[in-house]
Amino acid sequence: MAQSKIWLSSPHMGGNEKKYIDDAFAGNWIAPLGPNVTGFEENLEHYLGDGQHVAALSSGTAAIHLGLIMLGVGAGDEVICQSMTFSASANPIAYLGATPVFVDSEPDTWNICPNFLEEAIIERLAKGKKPKAIIAVHLYGMPYKVDEVNAVAKKYDIPILEDAAEALGSTYNGKKCGTFGTIGILSFNGNKIITTSGGGALVTNNKAVKERAVYLATQARDDKPYYQHTEIGYNYRLSNISAGIGRGQMEVLNRNVNLRRGINNFYRDFFKEIEGVTVFTEYDERYFSNFWLTTILIDADNTGGITPNKVRLELLNDNIEARPLWKPMHLQPVFKDAPYYGANISEQLFNNGLCLPSGSNMGKIEFERISIALKRIFNNL
Ligand SMILES: *Cc1c(COP(=O)(O)O)cnc(C)c1O
Repeated sequence: MAQSKIWLSSPHMGGNEKKYIDDAFAGNWIAPLGPNVTGFEENLEHYLGDGQHVAALSSGTAAIHLGLIMLGVGAGDEVICQSMTFSASANPIAYLGATPVFVDSEPDTWNICPNFLEEAIIERLAKGKKPKAIIAVHLYGMPYKVDEVNAVAKKYDIPILEDAAEALGSTYNGKKCGTFGTIGILSFNGNKIITTSGGGALVTNNKAVKERAVYLATQARDDKPYYQHTEIGYNYRLSNISAGIGRGQMEVLNRNVNLRRGINNFYRDFFKEIEGVTVFTEYDERYFSNFWLTTILIDADNTGGITPNKVRLELLNDNIEARPLWKPMHLQPVFKDAPYYGANISEQLFNNGLCLPSGSNMGKIEFERISIALKRIFNNL
């Protein structure tokens, strides 16, 4: 195994990140505040446009936690959550002592199904409890059915917490993902489309909500010369060093989106010829995905028995990382007692899907290695 590892998605620097870190050292802003934090927030606000306000935080998970608090979620409440997602979407519900109610995906975008969502709301209301929020996710960068899902949320007057952790750079009807919820969240973890090593952000169109997020993220200090607190606070602000990386990364966000979309094209071309494999693509022209990860579905009945797991293991043999899709939350041992509404669509996706290497820093050599490996796997029936 002499060849270096091809990762699913690894950090891809633009070049100016170190300059912003040097600025932080030069100004001695080695703290969870400073010019990089403010500058990064301004970069994101400018990028998202549309009068958005952004609070830079220590992680996407922290942003979801604060978002749910600000939507009034507390102990004993119920929060509806897309089942097919990363556990970070759902964990903050449990932090607050609330109960997640999981909802299945629809097959067009793999995200929360508006019909099952409405079914869940109607049944929870009949049981006497109105869900406090809906967590909708743009999985793998693919926008959820914004019109349909937001219409259901509006009909029942339930706020949406929009998990755009994987979807910075994606749009729906020309509008940026992250701006569709009552509150949106972003992640800059190491494997996301841009990274600050670790970090996240809360997005809102209401300046007061941003200010409250920053207040809660800095231990909820009252405006006094001494330390006085009337609420429980958190230590969730982004470091000024990390934010410096973020400022450099914002300079190459569009490049990264274009590269990831190019990678998706590469796989689409490759699999055109191969029966039983479909590359997940946009449902119609309203959807524009950053294709954070390219994902495929494999119908083993039509591939001569080649399963997603076989493809994954064969690629691993060549030191190429591929990964199963997110295992739905309603199938997770930790959430086994949570209510679930759906028809096991996400379960089928999980069973038949695979994430392929999609890092924007892949070049000719990597594409060549992946091509050769996939050809060997699929031609060797
Ligand atoms: C990465 C991710 C998160 C969490 O973000 P962190 O910054 O890692 O805390 C939340 N939801 C989804 C869908 C993610 O992919």
